Amino acid sequence: MQTVSDYFSSMVFDDRVMRSMLSADVYNSLRKTIDEGATLDLSVANAVATAMKDWAVQKGATHYTHWFQPLTGITAEKHDGFISPAPDGRVIMEFSGKELIKGEPDASSFPSGGLRATFEARGYTAWDPTSYAFIKDKTLCIPTAFCSYGGEALDKKTPLLRSMEALNKQALRILKLFGNDTAKCVKTSVGPEQEYFLVDKKLYDQRPDLIYTGRTLFGAKPPKGQEMDDHYFGVIKPRVLDFMHDLNDELWKLGILAKTQHNEVAPAQHELAPIYSTTNIATDQNQLTMEIMQKVAKRHDLVCLLHEKPFAGVNGSGKHNNWSMTTDTGVNLLTPGETPYENAQFLIFLCAVIKAVDDYQDLLRLSVATAGNDHRLGANEAPPAVISMFLGEELSAVLEAIETDKPYSAKEKKQMKLGVDVLPKFVKDTTDRNRTSPFAFTGNKFEFRMLGSSNSIACANMMLNAAVAESLKQYADKLEGAADFKTKLQEVIKKTIKDHKRIIFNGNGYDDEWIAEAERRGLSNYKTTADCMPHLLDKKNADMLISHGIFTKEELESRCEIMLENYCKTVIIEANTMTDMVKKQILPAISKYVDKLCDTVIKKKSVSQNAECMFETKTVSKLSTLSDAMFDMTGELEGEVIKTKDGSDVIAESAKIRDSVLPLMTRLRLLADEAETVCSKECWPFPTYGELLFGV
Ligand code: ADP
Ligand code: MG
Repeated sequence: MQTVSDYFSSMVFDDRVMRSMLSADVYNSLRKTIDEGATLDLSVANAVATAMKDWAVQKGATHYTHWFQPLTGITAEKHDGFISPAPDGRVIMEFSGKELIKGEPDASSFPSGGLRATFEARGYTAWDPTSYAFIKDKTLCIPTAFCSYGGEALDKKTPLLRSMEALNKQALRILKLFGNDTAKCVKTSVGPEQEYFLVDKKLYDQRPDLIYTGRTLFGAKPPKGQEMDDHYFGVIKPRVLDFMHDLNDELWKLGILAKTQHNEVAPAQHELAPIYSTTNIATDQNQLTMEIMQKVAKRHDLVCLLHEKPFAGVNGSGKHNNWSMTTDTGVNLLTPGETPYENAQFLIFLCAVIKAVDDYQDLLRLSVATAGNDHRLGANEAPPAVISMFLGEELSAVLEAIETDKPYSAKEKKQMKLGVDVLPKFVKDTTDRNRTSPFAFTGNKFEFRMLGSSNSIACANMMLNAAVAESLKQYADKLEGAADFKTKLQEVIKKTIKDHKRIIFNGNGYDDEWIAEAERRGLSNYKTTADCMPHLLDKKNADMLISHGIFTKEELESRCEIMLENYCKTVIIEANTMTDMVKKQILPAISKYVDKLCDTVIKKKSVSQNAECMFETKTVSKLSTLSDAMFDMTGELEGEVIKTKDGSDVIAESAKIRDSVLPLMTRLRLLADEAETVCSKECWPFPTYGELLFGV
């Protein structure tokens, strides 16, 4: 029997394959490109391309594609065959270095936010050799970055790579100050925990809302939801387990380290966590994971829902972004270490993150903002829209001691000179679990918990890396010129704690009292995408992102526009789906039921003239009232949708969506859900919450 280690990564052109298929010279120069970003010359690219093609063809591949991540949030691919005509009428399989390095897809149909004039429809894709090529559906997929004819980034990978580079540069400056000359680079790592729902395909097919929008727009609360807490970590049903086994196999073949799987809080909700890897690879792999989850689910007559809030009243799905910084020599910079010296280095990196999260709360908030995630944040199941950090009692006490020059009251009471002498050694589990914090320190990494389940993790990580790079830069600027490094270091750490302690909150983030307290502390609270997204262009944010070379001004403007456009389009599709479902399904269903009830009344009275028919009469009257109100409100909603398109800019449009369209949708839903509770099961036109949530 084949074991996992036999087929793990069998569909990946990874280091093992490269080493065996490339000459030593070619392998070494490619390795240099991957590890140190050295440029690759064409002869090397040609040799790599030939080896890749030979390997892929041998595995049954017939096509290749430049696989990229446009701003739609999903991946894009255009397949080209390897075939090329030979003089004798046969075909040979060809693939050149030029085709490997660069592609020229017609980019005019991808969102560009005005960056690309129509006469410049061409876009470029450029090979990212740091992320291995792989085979999917008989196609060799080459991970690439995607930019416009003018060189502006039109994807999520480019700014992510730039942010990793920015952080690398600044982190190395700090390490040098600590006498570390051996580290050649610092990379960020991410382990994204992915939540999802599984529903039966036959039920899904009967719900236009799931089909068009990925979430239920209607649905009364079922008799049982998640109140018994009996699903989390519960025994996994055989059908779901079959899906998970199949999924793991597919992911393992693609070299994805799928590790942990369990049931989540809501019925029909599950989670998959891989072992962490370098951020851009983790990002590519998470995109692939989401795609493959959906594909494998279909094979099991299931549908995998990645929407942030597929069901009202039960938990939605998020993605926890576990993040750390590591040197190429294997040192995790967020591990406290055993000696004061290491502690000092840990503290400065810790402070850099604290300062980054406080200074750029708005960027972190907007990096996870989508119409879908707006339903989840602050709904008592996920962190609120307010960003704060959890450090745990121990670490918070250490920071407080440093700030106030008081002895840290752990074991030995000692005045802290460098502010670090008695920093306790943290083993991973001494930090308490705090599930309610948006940004929690978990022993040797931070867990950013606000991401939505369908989000590309690229957005959150580019902002996080950028913000931390900026803190490190400011520190390095101060420390490099210091006459007395230790004193200056102490001062910098102390000042950071003083200036940024407002962002630290170890309590319950779901508590309303915290929201009030956060306001007193001056923390931002942007409840919706429409509220936060325009802040991408705030001078403070734009200046920082531009100064680190992560975005140009034009790229920022285009991104802001695309993200808001996306928000508007998403909600409008939902509103249209709602009105459609009300008019074509819900109102006719109610009429049918009312008709039946009226028939019954006539029949009853024909038998017994005095029959009161209370149930029938009251139900008919209630349903009439509800359906009239729904009819009215549907018209109103249609009117509001039209009004959003009055030619004003996208910021104004998104505000109208937030203020007029979404509240009407909520009201319309309430009416329909109430009708559902009165209507007969036989007449109700689509599967209920109970069936969807417990139907697998
Ligand atoms: P939880 O209890 O929150 O599920 P786990 O310990 O299972 O946390 O880890 C969750 C994720 O964090 C996994 O994907 C894991 O690989 C990742 N992780 C662990 N250490 C690091 C690290 N140093 N940097 C980034 N991610 C990490
Ligand atoms: Mg977690």
